[in-house]
Amino acid sequence: MYISQRARNMEPSATLAVTAKAKSLKREGKPVISFGAGEPDFDSPASAIRYAEEAMKGGQTHYTPGIGIPELREQVCAYYKDRFGLEYSPADVVVGSGAKPLLYEALGCIIDPGDEVLVFTPAWVSYVEQIRFFDGVPVLVDTSKTDFIPRIVDVKKAVTPKTRAMILNNPSNPTGAIYDEECLRDLGKLAVEHNIAIIYDEIYERLVYCGEKHHQILNIVPEARDLTIIINGVSKAFAMTGWRIGYALGPSKMMSYIGDLQGHITSNASSVAQWASVGALKEADEDVKTMHKAFSARRDLTVSLMKEMPYITFTEPKGAFYVWFNVDQAIGKSWKGQKITDDAELCKIVLEAKYVALVPGSAFMSPGHVRISYSNSEEEIREGLGRFKEFLEELE
Ligand code: PMP
Ligand code: GLU
Repeated sequence: MYISQRARNMEPSATLAVTAKAKSLKREGKPVISFGAGEPDFDSPASAIRYAEEAMKGGQTHYTPGIGIPELREQVCAYYKDRFGLEYSPADVVVGSGAKPLLYEALGCIIDPGDEVLVFTPAWVSYVEQIRFFDGVPVLVDTSKTDFIPRIVDVKKAVTPKTRAMILNNPSNPTGAIYDEECLRDLGKLAVEHNIAIIYDEIYERLVYCGEKHHQILNIVPEARDLTIIINGVSKAFAMTGWRIGYALGPSKMMSYIGDLQGHITSNASSVAQWASVGALKEADEDVKTMHKAFSARRDLTVSLMKEMPYITFTEPKGAFYVWFNVDQAIGKSWKGQKITDDAELCKIVLEAKYVALVPGSAFMSPGHVRISYSNSEEEIREGLGRFKEFLEELE
């Protein structure tokens, strides 16, 4: 069968691939510790489970409106009003099967072939692939020399008449950086000046530490409202990755196109999971706070253990649940005769030798780095990082 060029050009999701490999080694009985996918290990909130059970027993097991049940869209609006003071109407919210497909649908409704999208690197693995799938052109703006905060001079240089959108991921996966007010103001103003859409992926907005504050871009640049699509969901803050519920909020006309596109792809997101998300948004705020506390302690533990390791350097993360570190000093060395040629090889050898799963930085468009997700128990963090340190100490 002929396979399209588009499909052949696609890189599979490295985060999912590493996790799948770790799970298959685990099934073989290997003592794997996975710092691969960013996925909270906590149980989903009791309120989510209760609402899901009630939905199933109450017959809420059919198609729903393509854009999601009104009850969930109303809850999302209430959340945005309460948390950020932003007024949205349920008609301007689309619920999808996770934030991931909503990002894809948003891109599909913004770009034509050849259009450019600004992506700040290191960047989460799916942005570039999704842009390419619509024959768009990702224009990469490197932030690694400025503590992962884009510098407006660099961004301005990357803008052309073909720039249609910029994707902002705040807090950032993989770096854990948090964008400050000045950066968001500059980016927002630039977008308004050049009529560039802002895709504001704030899926980690509840996961911010060290007394830092997460900023909603529209609170800083309200004039960008008609250009902004907000992306969020229950996966991370509510530990609900498997339910697959995300939501997007934006200008009415654009949201109606996104809803129409979704109607041709997934129809609605799972009805039961939508009800579970109503339960989470309504009643799980305390659970979010408890998990946040645990993540904060895990972050401190991970950072302190990593500071003791040879050959790696990193900027301390302030948000999400990742540490992004440079491994240049380890590249070129060998482990028991196996040469470490790059970040991918390093991750491969660590997994095979020490059963510790990490994601190579090249998947985030930034070779020479590695990402660790510390969404594991403190016990696993101690054990896994102990093994990784041992590996680094064995390099020659
Ligand atoms: N954006 C970012 C930055 C992410 O890390 C993820 C991780 N899953 C997503 C979007 C998608 O989240 P989900 O589809 O699980 O809602
Ligand atoms: N977003 C998470 C990660 O970066 C989960 C996997 C994925 O969706 O890519 O690991």
